[in-house]
Amino acid sequence: MLLAKHTILDTMISTRNADGSRRSEFLALGAGGVTMGEGLLAFRSMGLVSRRATGGYLRQGETMNSTSVTRRGFLRTSTAAAATGALLPLHSWALAQDGATDVPRSNNHTGYEKIVWKAQPFPIAQVRLKAGPLKDMQERDRVFLYMLPNDRLLRSFRLTAGKPSTAQPLGGWEAPDCELRGHFAGGHYLSACALMYASTGDDAIRLKAEDMVKELAKCQFPNGYLGAYPENFYDRLKKYEEVWAPFYTYHKILAGHLDMYVYCGSEAALRTARRMADWAIEWVEPLSDEELAKVQMTEHGGMNEGLFNLYALTGEKKYLDGGLRFEHRRFFDPLAAHEDKLAGLHSNTNIPKVIGAARGYELTGDERYKSIAEYFWQTIVDHHTYAPGGTSNNDEGWSEPDTIGSHLAPAGQECCCSYNMLKLTRHLFGWKPEARRMDYYERLLWNVRAGTQDVDGMLMYYVPTIPGGWKTFGNQYDSFWCCTGTGAEEYAKLVDTIYFHDESSVYVNQFVASEVSWPEKHARLTQETSFPEEERTSITIHAEKPVEFTLRIRAPHWAQGIALTVNGRPEHVTPEADGYLALSRMWKSGDRVEVSLPMALRAESIAGSPELASLAYGPLVLAAEMGRDGLSTEMIDGRGRPDVDRLPALPMPKFEAGHAAGSGVSWVKKSEEGELRFRTANQERDFTLRPLYQVMDERYSVYWQRMSKA
Ligand SMILES: [Zn+2]
Repeated sequence: MLLAKHTILDTMISTRNADGSRRSEFLALGAGGVTMGEGLLAFRSMGLVSRRATGGYLRQGETMNSTSVTRRGFLRTSTAAAATGALLPLHSWALAQDGATDVPRSNNHTGYEKIVWKAQPFPIAQVRLKAGPLKDMQERDRVFLYMLPNDRLLRSFRLTAGKPSTAQPLGGWEAPDCELRGHFAGGHYLSACALMYASTGDDAIRLKAEDMVKELAKCQFPNGYLGAYPENFYDRLKKYEEVWAPFYTYHKILAGHLDMYVYCGSEAALRTARRMADWAIEWVEPLSDEELAKVQMTEHGGMNEGLFNLYALTGEKKYLDGGLRFEHRRFFDPLAAHEDKLAGLHSNTNIPKVIGAARGYELTGDERYKSIAEYFWQTIVDHHTYAPGGTSNNDEGWSEPDTIGSHLAPAGQECCCSYNMLKLTRHLFGWKPEARRMDYYERLLWNVRAGTQDVDGMLMYYVPTIPGGWKTFGNQYDSFWCCTGTGAEEYAKLVDTIYFHDESSVYVNQFVASEVSWPEKHARLTQETSFPEEERTSITIHAEKPVEFTLRIRAPHWAQGIALTVNGRPEHVTPEADGYLALSRMWKSGDRVEVSLPMALRAESIAGSPELASLAYGPLVLAAEMGRDGLSTEMIDGRGRPDVDRLPALPMPKFEAGHAAGSGVSWVKKSEEGELRFRTANQERDFTLRPLYQVMDERYSVYWQRMSKA
């Protein structure tokens, strides 16, 4: 019997066979998703998903209902359908990210971590989102995960294993002839479902993913290989023949299974992962270092990370050795020497290797790995990051340091890079909690993670930086880009960094309406805020009896004149060396801390491009609205980037010199009305601005050109 709770989602799995057993398919979606399952209709009737159709544009704030034919827009209706939002029991499986580090701990042995994080995230299952923009994102993502029938996801795996499948093939990067197939279907999808279960307690999504694990195991070859294409793709690597990215895909499938074990407790997934890893280790074993280096010229992503995590879960040294063997020396050596040789390298495949370095440090204590991770992070942040926080340009690569101003393009700030930089940031913060790391996290969260998912849960590939660029989105069944995968994971784990803790402190890292349970203190904290649309947050403590701890609240770099009150009384607190405001006391239930976080307009300069600036308000990068002329639905849907051959870039907005970066922004005024709107004044051409994350279906620019006074 699987239907425990009465939830909306129950309707999705309430179909049963004649004998009462559950059907393996959870959603009776027809080809192309035209026939909607009951549950999806339930979501829709609550305003959580629009009907994806052609038609007029919908602006933020405009009304949408379940029958309106709208293409997209920002949905601001409530998240009343927080279907299974209750906190999970504290003994739940869902564990802290990187969850691999905590599974051994939960099994009552010391684990294999040599470096223990100074501050730990709370296990995902102990944190829940409350109504707000992030909750909306989570729910849209949940709908997207449900829209993908298992049979279609499994098709290429089954055919590869010589088993029949009559399912309609998926398209895009999961198409039957795509050399990346399987990366989403057998990898990201499992990770996303596992994280969604941990974040929401939605048992139906766990069951759907466990069904996938079971069916994928049937497709695993006797030698351990699992893939949606034949093993001979890897022979092409050995022969240095062209092939897309076999080990990159393998890493995603391995990681998906590990996440199913970590967050859902699936022993079957761990069994599959072990056998997959054994195959990979055996595959590289006979190669000389020189041969391996050649193989590694093809994208292989975070194989080192996946194997390290498997070691952390099992303690089997062969997986540690495997992770070390997969180290990409050619990429790591310059980083270890603190040399920026990133120009010309591919970004999305390399960042997971650095996450692997971070895990290598944690599992071995090797300071070289730590140095690689820290140097890489700082180099990206200082020399390769656009105003909204994303990295990568020229499609998926990096250019010379401090040259991003000359690489404003339709294809940059790849979403995968943002996803992976956030993951890396968590490690560095864990080693040494500092507000600057979480400032960076916040910038990415609100500028290139929020706002890169449309109202239908569809996801972006690149976030354009070219003036007059616009956001483009994939579709349900025919995209499956790398960023579809990382995006599906991202919105399933939005809770994972809001709070960290150590033995005596709780860190409030992000200002998000949410709730966290802290069983060690028999306490619970709730955060109420509409941040970033309001410049404040409040935290209420709930405890069985008075409890002593330090509440640490991040003092963001952009906030001047932060003010705190406890139960209405002002507290004069200045940030400590780590950039956090610390309140230590014996807390009692009902104590309430109010934090005002004043935002101000500022212009920011760009390393290497003194003629350019961007505008920000608090953590939000502002975009100049450049209209919709020439823009059609067809130019947005199903595309990974703006087609600038059809709709060329627009002239960059200009502002008059004398208003240089850092000198105040008197030429921009904030609207007095409720919404975050701004307007330039007395410029050659004036523009309205709004936060980039709110821009949909409109051309925009996040960069401005300084003009000299004539
Ligand atoms: Zn990507």
